[in-house]
Amino acid sequence: MQIKAPRGTYDILADDSYKWQYIEKVMKEVAEIFGYNEIRTPLFEHTELFERGVGESTDIVTKEMYTFHDKAERSLTLRPEGTASCARALIEHSLYNGVLPVKWYYTGPMFRYDRPQTGRYRQFHQFGIEAFGSNSPHLDAEVILVLVEILLRLGLKNYELHLNSVGCPECRENYRRHLIEHITPVKDKLCEDCQLRYTQNPLRVLDCKNESCHKAIEGYPTLYDNLCDECRNHYTKVQETLKDSGVAFIHDDNLVRGLDYYTNTAFEIHIPGIGAQSAVGGGGRYNGLVKDCGGPDLPGIGFALGIERLLLAIDTLGKKDFKAANIDVVVITMSDKYEDLAIQVLNHLRRHNIRSEKDYTGRSPRAQMKYANKLGARVVVLIGDEEVENGCLTIRNMQNKEQIQVENQELISNINNIL
Ligand code: AMP
Repeated sequence: MQIKAPRGTYDILADDSYKWQYIEKVMKEVAEIFGYNEIRTPLFEHTELFERGVGESTDIVTKEMYTFHDKAERSLTLRPEGTASCARALIEHSLYNGVLPVKWYYTGPMFRYDRPQTGRYRQFHQFGIEAFGSNSPHLDAEVILVLVEILLRLGLKNYELHLNSVGCPECRENYRRHLIEHITPVKDKLCEDCQLRYTQNPLRVLDCKNESCHKAIEGYPTLYDNLCDECRNHYTKVQETLKDSGVAFIHDDNLVRGLDYYTNTAFEIHIPGIGAQSAVGGGGRYNGLVKDCGGPDLPGIGFALGIERLLLAIDTLGKKDFKAANIDVVVITMSDKYEDLAIQVLNHLRRHNIRSEKDYTGRSPRAQMKYANKLGARVVVLIGDEEVENGCLTIRNMQNKEQIQVENQELISNINNIL
């Protein structure tokens, strides 16, 4: 039986990997301009980290984690997101004692066991940033600005930024009570999931994908109306800073985000036209997370962008043509007795940064020429009896078909003149 990639995973082949490199380059450049440095954490962590850090009532923890026991019977989990690992690393290396805020970016695969569809995979990739150690609303705005700047540099101007505040634990608890009171009389009209979770986490009903749940709770009290003064001021300042920075946003009462650790600012970016999964990224403040993970009471804020969904969005622009890098030069031998010499020429070309190749499958000279055409070579170097006798090499310009013989030491300059 043929072995295929597991459901919900896929290969990134050569032409596509250039798109990935391009996007990753833009994201890293922007993050670094804003003062964020790269962190790389393990792809798996102790399961407990995500239970504590992401939250035990979340879909991610209850349904979607790839959890396994290793040979020593430790429960480990392939990371479903990046923030909990960053909080763990911050605590483990006591970086909260150093210069604050600690500003990091990361990129890499994440794993969630969900039903695959366009824009949703079991191994997918995120780029994210995190800033620990400041509760300034200016930092909230900065994090959103990083996200917006990335989208603009990728040419994705048609994004929609949704913004809300989910308050602090106190105003949220207050709100929770109001919301449960509002939902209880209509609870039978909710979907099965919401009926189960509304007493535990009623905010998730706002987040539900079923239109019927939204209809059932129409006229519900909003988080915004229940914010305490401090949270309301914080939210107002974030909004003002975004306005002053020229960033348009939509205040969205339904936006609560799926993860338990958010406090205050929550945001999501949507790009229309990329299918049902239109959220390309989201994030927010998570002031309780570091403490929940066993560290000091240190505030934090961040976002994660889904790279697959960014790619879908970039494809809708239909502009940029990504291709694997062409080979510039192919070294062709007229007889296999010159193979060793061809290797020396190839080494010489590559040392001078010229993308070059030779045949490794015993092709005839004619077939080597075809191979050079297929690779898109602009120059071939020919090695035959005549060249060896005269101690020179022949260069063929594949565009105008002109051939010249050159001395070995003039090879590079002559090729560079054509390329
Ligand atoms: P989250 O960590 O759930 O807030 O997700 C942040 C972003 O990651 C989303 O907006 C998506 O772009 C992306 N994302 C989340 N889950 C998946 C998935 N299963 N497949 C592809 N992208 C995903």
